[in-house]
Amino acid sequence: MPSLRWVSWILIAHLFVLTFVRSDSSSYSNKPEEIPKKFLQFAKEPELFDWMVGIRRKIHENPELGYEEFETSKVIRTELDKLGISYKYPVASTGVIGFVGSGQPPFVAIRADMDALPLQELVEWEHKSKVPGKMHACGHDAHVAMVLGAAKILQKHSEELKGTVVLVFQPAEEGGGGAMKIIEAGVLDNVNAIFGLHIVHNIPHGEVAARSGPMLAGSGFFEAVISGKGGHAAIPQHSIDPILAASNVIVSLQHLVSREADPLDSQVVTVAKFQGGGAFNVIPDSVTIGGTFRAFLKDSMIQLKQRIKEVITGQAIVHRCNATVDFLENDKPIFPPTVNDKELHEHFQNVAGDMLGIDKVKEMQPVMGSEDFSFYQEMIPGYFFFLGMENETSGHLDSVHSPYFRINEDALPYGAALHASLATRYLIELQSKVTSPEQKQHDEL
Ligand SMILES: [Zn+2]
Ligand SMILES: [Zn+2]
Repeated sequence: MPSLRWVSWILIAHLFVLTFVRSDSSSYSNKPEEIPKKFLQFAKEPELFDWMVGIRRKIHENPELGYEEFETSKVIRTELDKLGISYKYPVASTGVIGFVGSGQPPFVAIRADMDALPLQELVEWEHKSKVPGKMHACGHDAHVAMVLGAAKILQKHSEELKGTVVLVFQPAEEGGGGAMKIIEAGVLDNVNAIFGLHIVHNIPHGEVAARSGPMLAGSGFFEAVISGKGGHAAIPQHSIDPILAASNVIVSLQHLVSREADPLDSQVVTVAKFQGGGAFNVIPDSVTIGGTFRAFLKDSMIQLKQRIKEVITGQAIVHRCNATVDFLENDKPIFPPTVNDKELHEHFQNVAGDMLGIDKVKEMQPVMGSEDFSFYQEMIPGYFFFLGMENETSGHLDSVHSPYFRINEDALPYGAALHASLATRYLIELQSKVTSPEQKQHDEL
């Protein structure tokens, strides 16, 4: 037995020396600040760039809505197979979760959303959507190509990874809460941090923008049916007019933000849908209204939700009507606010600064748009940022969700390299934190 123990010790010592020598000889570990530029250079090479462009165009031609991304998911799995990257599938219906690196902790995740929008593409080009009424008008086709690009970069440098990068290809970002389903599937339970990006039309190509703390609002939807009693428009005393009741409901809803919210806590309530009546001389039986509410604080979201219900039902009663309110949470879960982790903000500025120059890393003001990336941030420290794509060659670019939305494909290498660099550097820094002398001393105490 004692001799066996000695053999074990020698083996462990050997392994330690091997690991030490290997990590010491790693070019990236020695100069982590060089990683972002090297990765970007690699991503711009035709081998990688053309491959990403091909994938993006293929997905663009065949857009699929939330939880229907079967072909998109297949394209992703085929490419991961070719790269020799293992993955889990299906996760949350059509989601794919890939793994690059040691297969051991620590884990850091990078995320792409896969779904398209129910929109008819009006851009005339060779790779226009082949599916009538569906379009990748939010750039999720590019997001998929970028994370696959990152996967290729990471796989090429997998020996250097100080842990595992988890590739998250999620379904249904556009209101379906695909991120929530990925979390519920438990595939990210051991992940230490997660990064995500969105391309944007009005930031210059080669620039990024983000902020620490709340960046995008939480969002929810509501729909209400206000029921009265229809009748002849000339004899209103025999009817209960739901149009007037709904009009008062809408006016009262506007008071929630102007009178009940802290003016320094930005909030929005918008009624964007009003349907009722079909004739000039008939009072209808009912009216349907619907809209969205937004806020940066979770408590404010809860308060708005409660008060929207109270105001709609209360005002309906004032006008002798009944109202039912539906927050549509099964189809459109309420998104929490997107809140960027403070330490990851520093990490992002360092990595993006090393790649692009710190003058290209902009601080952005919060906006009332929302992102289901926020579901990850409720569980894991997370960081979301915007990647610009506007330059002279791109010409004027329309906003996301426009039928004229176009992508400047020159942004693809930037997205891929940022994803890969943020993850690689995160793992290196985590390792150096764990093994730093102060930490060691602390552990021994
Ligand atoms: Zn969108
Ligand atoms: Zn989007």
